[in-house]
Amino acid sequence: MWKAAVAAARKEGVDIVADSARSIAGGSINDAWRVNSDIGPLFVKFNDSAMHEMFAAEAAGLQELAQTNSIRVPRVICSGCDNSWSFLILEYIAFDRSDNEAGRLLGLQLAQLHGCHSEAFGWFRDNTIGSTPQINTQTDDWIEFFGQHRLGFQLELASRRGGARLAKSGAQLCEQLDRFFAGITIEPALLHGDLWGGNWGVCKGQPVIFDPAVYYGDSETDIAMTTLFGGFPQSFYTTYREELPDKPGGRQRRELYRLYHVLNHYNLFGGGYGAQAERMIGALLAD
Ligand code: ADP
Repeated sequence: MWKAAVAAARKEGVDIVADSARSIAGGSINDAWRVNSDIGPLFVKFNDSAMHEMFAAEAAGLQELAQTNSIRVPRVICSGCDNSWSFLILEYIAFDRSDNEAGRLLGLQLAQLHGCHSEAFGWFRDNTIGSTPQINTQTDDWIEFFGQHRLGFQLELASRRGGARLAKSGAQLCEQLDRFFAGITIEPALLHGDLWGGNWGVCKGQPVIFDPAVYYGDSETDIAMTTLFGGFPQSFYTTYREELPDKPGGRQRRELYRLYHVLNHYNLFGGGYGAQAERMIGALLAD
């Protein structure tokens, strides 16, 4: 498998000499290997050849994050494919334990990342959230973007999955989005896009973020995602808020933003996420 990735890299003009590898557990979507090579240890993710665009978009996202020099991300070596498999080859990072100081640095550096703005919401290309397509059509208006390409898109998928009640109450919520944004301006900030506790780590005291679903949007969407499953120390939130204070109505908006990810989990995994999304929509409609 990893040998196929090395051969595919050669086709992309990246000549790697690799001698051994071991499989790595822990990915939710892809299989991964640690490969020893002449340019240092590599982290190689692979999936079906049909997922080539997903890896190309992840590579572009990591590069977009890297060029801000705000927060460390794994260096991209290349993405590629052959007839059977697609690959993403990254620098291998030896993660160690996180502590309060790493959390503090993450808060500071994420605020710096969120200080990088674009002209419009969205991105120059679509990508994926988990393995679900994420549409990034560039749009001037955040409410329109979030309503159509985030909640609306996931609700459509939910409806096709049989979640008719969910789709109906969700549509009602989408009609009322304006009221969650009264009196505030949202800037198109560069986002990690999938910042749950499993997508950050620490290497030699420095925070590292990886596996992004990059686009430009409300910075609070990243903060909302950090609170969905936990895994971020209090020092992270304290430092982040010193840099970027919350705006009025932030609590309700973060619930809207968590809803996007809960809907995505329903569409990916089903189970209790549908009922959770319905409860969230009910509470938001009543708020
Ligand atoms: P998936 O796309 O399948 O969710 P991830 O990118 O989240 O996979 O990676 C799976 C796991 O591998 C992560 O939880 C992390 O522990 C580890 N990992 C991710 N990127 C690297 C890297 N560049 N170097 C070393 N380990 C990594």
